[in-house]
Amino acid sequence: KMHNTILELKGNIRVFCRVRPLLLDDGVENETKTISFPTTIEAVGRGIEVIQHGQSHPFMFDKVFTPQSSQEEVFVEISQLVQSALDGYKVCIFAYGQTGSGKTHTMMGTPGSYDDKGLIPRSLEQIFEARQKLKEQGWKYEMQVSMLEIYNEMIRDLLSSNKSCSADSGNRQQYAIKHDPSGNTHVSDLTIVDVRSSKEVVFLLNRAAQSRSVGKTQMNEQSSRSHFVFTLRISGVNETMEQHVHGVLNLIDLAGSERLSKSGSTGDRLKETQAINKSLSSLSDVIFALAKKEEHVPFRNSKLTYLLQPCLGGDSKTLMVVNVSPSPSSVNESLCSLRFAARVN
Ligand code: ADP
Ligand code: MG
Repeated sequence: KMHNTILELKGNIRVFCRVRPLLLDDGVENETKTISFPTTIEAVGRGIEVIQHGQSHPFMFDKVFTPQSSQEEVFVEISQLVQSALDGYKVCIFAYGQTGSGKTHTMMGTPGSYDDKGLIPRSLEQIFEARQKLKEQGWKYEMQVSMLEIYNEMIRDLLSSNKSCSADSGNRQQYAIKHDPSGNTHVSDLTIVDVRSSKEVVFLLNRAAQSRSVGKTQMNEQSSRSHFVFTLRISGVNETMEQHVHGVLNLIDLAGSERLSKSGSTGDRLKETQAINKSLSSLSDVIFALAKKEEHVPFRNSKLTYLLQPCLGGDSKTLMVVNVSPSPSSVNESLCSLRFAARVN
């Protein structure tokens, strides 16, 4: 009961934090600990503490995952949220954090590895399995996916077979975002694919990843400088019960949140930096306004928030997973990420 009250107050916005393990690449020994997990009763599984210049900065979230937490353990905590998309809810799950903090690992995992599968493949498996069971109760579901990237406030279709349509064709009226009165989003010219199995979607995900990595070499590691938006639209009908549902599951791997100094960057890099800062801060503003139940929610301040508008307000459900690196050299960025998370929590 207590739990329900908390969720109501928070307007269905939840924040998880995940600290990845130290990697060899971090080039440090384990003993230089800057992050710890309090073990008091109220903080266990929810608290995290960062030490910076000898000073302690404690935080509490709905859930904190330690470097030992497996992909499975993370998924267990979100599977209900995923399930609610089948019941007709609009769901957004974001991965936030600096580049190298584990966003893509959390979302996608290691392709081809069974244990390391991330939230996206696990969610798809769960949804398609559930669909099979609901079939026996007379439900017929149709699923559609789209995958896009937002780079420099421009949308790029990752499933488009039209190779000539490059990222810099953004000044055309292509990929205009429109919301209809029933709360559906339309992006003009965006490729939408009907899917019947999680395997089919994984195939498309791989295709999208390839389309992203092409950009990576061409465009200054674009993948960490752009938002990846995976959308699964779910329509279910039950003719005997005369019911229908329309759910949406959005899984978003955000651009790296690292503070890029504006002073040092010029030209394209500066434009890129401004676009990322703008969209991440408008995301925070939107979630903050929704959590505070403010009258004006500034959805229109960025492409990302405008695209996701119908899936962020109302009775939709939002989860922010804040990814953090345990490396002492990342302590400033980690604190920034945790403060961002604390603001929307
Ligand atoms: P990001 O997408 O935020 O830039 P990645 O997901 O690419 O970060 O993670 C950076 C590196 O850390 C990758 O090599 C990834 O495999 C590894 N990594 C991230 N999270 C974990 C984890 N929970 N367990 C093991 N390795 C991880
Ligand atoms: Mg990544």
